[in-house]
Amino acid sequence: MTEENSPRRVKMLIIGSGPAGLTAALYAARANLAPVVLSGMDLGGQVSKTHAIENYPGFPEGISGEGLVKAFHEQAERFGAEIIFDVATEVDLSQRPFHVTSYGEEFLADTLIISTGATARTLDIPGEEEMVGRGVSYCATCDGHFFKDMDVVVVGGGDSAIEEALYLTHHAAKVTIVHRRDELRAGPILKKRAEENPKIHFVWNTVLTEIPRGEKVESVKTKNLLTGAESAIATDGVFIFIGHTPNTELFEGQLTLDDRGYIVVDGLMQTQVAGVYAAGEAADPHFRQVITSAGMGAGAAIQAIRYLEEAGL
Ligand code: NAP
Repeated sequence: MTEENSPRRVKMLIIGSGPAGLTAALYAARANLAPVVLSGMDLGGQVSKTHAIENYPGFPEGISGEGLVKAFHEQAERFGAEIIFDVATEVDLSQRPFHVTSYGEEFLADTLIISTGATARTLDIPGEEEMVGRGVSYCATCDGHFFKDMDVVVVGGGDSAIEEALYLTHHAAKVTIVHRRDELRAGPILKKRAEENPKIHFVWNTVLTEIPRGEKVESVKTKNLLTGAESAIATDGVFIFIGHTPNTELFEGQLTLDDRGYIVVDGLMQTQVAGVYAAGEAADPHFRQVITSAGMGAGAAIQAIRYLEEAGL
């Protein structure tokens, strides 16, 4: 390999640019480590697609996801973090420094922070995949405005589903939440807001069985889980919010993952490979909040800084 395309040596490489990755970058940059962040496909990750964040301290009026990510980004860059719009495609943790390949570059990293986040789960029912972009969506902030004065169905009963359903009421005429049980998993504040919103209607104990294919979504087929009765709901759109899967395929066989694919870390964000840390939703099936991801990112960076000092790197 020639000098000009030999791998770039860095003290810290951060994979992923959500709250965990950008917070880790801020801490590492302030320790003069000149961290490099591979942003992944979506700069800012899931939070950049969140309409409003009302539970991140310091913003009493709330802040948009995009606004918060922009602030994280600017703050990390101000202290010398380098954020590259690129995706890690291969990782070799068996050699030191760790070898990471992206589409544009190769890196040799003394420490690695994995903050690759998670991706929305799909229902895996007939028609779902084919109708994405024709009325099926996993992001209300991205696609809600296409449904002005129309009817939409929201699937799920967690905080995401209710938060996004409330957002959709700003555009749609009617929002029907289809939930597989008769009780919401979402917290009391969101639950109350949804119950009091005249545009929101609930269909309980029901799952979607098919999204009929066509030019655009016109209906969904449903099944009542208590009675077994099959039915259909006329709708212009289907928004699906049924949880997430961690983006950790790249590390299979190299790091310990739990049975759902989350990276196993100890209380100090350490994976089982010394010098490799994981933070945010890739390693967190429990909290999944912007503030907890940011906290994990800070912790991972602090530990990585200590590791570098102790190793004399
Ligand atoms: P979640 O809490 O896991 O909820 C997923 C929902 O989808 C549940 O209601 C679940 O039903 C339903 N579901 C799962 N698989 C399904 C399937 N195959 N068919 C039909 N329904 C299905 O996921 P989330 O709402 O994305 O939230 C994840 C975490 O982020 C949570 O800890 C949440 O508190 C947090 N969060 C917080 C906020 C906030 O604080 N403002 C906002 C968004 C997310 P069951 O209820 O029957 O299991």
